[in-house]
Amino acid sequence: MSFKIECPFCHQEMLAEEKWIGQEAECPFCSKTMIITKDGAVSQPLVNRNSSGEKIPSYLFLAIITTILCCLPLGIVSIVYAAQVNSKQMAGDIEGARKASQLALIWACIGIALSMGSGLLWGCFSVIFDYF
Ligand SMILES: [Zn+2]
Repeated sequence: MSFKIECPFCHQEMLAEEKWIGQEAECPFCSKTMIITKDGAVSQPLVNRNSSGEKIPSYLFLAIITTILCCLPLGIVSIVYAAQVNSKQMAGDIEGARKASQLALIWACIGIALSMGSGLLWGCFSVIFDYF
């Protein structure tokens, strides 16, 4: 199935294949790069790629939970990385955003694990002290 698109730069009409949707294409008339979408061609590859591309989780919610309920310093580290995910993704730094996302998750998990560990330890101690 092919459909009509209009070059966002020189406004020439041409036919595009459905399988091209989401891909970059070079206009045969003005040889500028455009992105094929199902609604036509657009001129801004970076912004469009971010909004239509994969969604990188920021784990901000998890980071905040870690900060409030578990471990404040580790939670803050996690929030810092979680905040970087969106800003890096906006800037087109997908690789950096993915890394920040992973680090946010790792630090939040360490915070949760530590607080659960210390909670368990605290529970053991209080049981022992109650016993005596
Ligand atoms: Zn063109």
